[in-house]
Amino acid sequence: MDDCIFCKIVKGEIPCRKVYEDDEALAFDDIHPMAPVHVVIVPKRHLATLLEVDEDALPAVAAMIRAAQEAARIKGIAERGFRTVINCNEEGGQVVFHLHMHLLGGRKLADGLG
Ligand code: AMP
Ligand code: ZN
Repeated sequence: MDDCIFCKIVKGEIPCRKVYEDDEALAFDDIHPMAPVHVVIVPKRHLATLLEVDEDALPAVAAMIRAAQEAARIKGIAERGFRTVINCNEEGGQVVFHLHMHLLGGRKLADGLG
């Protein structure tokens, strides 16, 4: 997607603070962190929202989850614990329409899911 900011990050056209990368997924620090550790994990394949995930897209989602595991280990929060969030569409708080997972940790996160 030409005008997608996360596709541009995947292609290296916009810089990021890379945490982890493999053939199918990329993890980078969120530019506006909501916690001491806040990583964004994207499948390299452009999928706009969680609603676009069909059978064919499952490997990309699996890669995103594996990259989140790696990012949690790299950031040193795997054993302490963390939260993952996928926002979908307007009321879900999605701002960037390229499927992504937030990895949050490094402090005790608030109870509840807001
Ligand atoms: P969402 O609200 O789920 O769509 O989350 C989008 C996230 O992307 C927000 O937390 C933003 O801070 C983050 N973000 C937007 N642009 C960038 C960027 N260039 N580099 C890193 N994170 C970004
Ligand atoms: Zn994209």
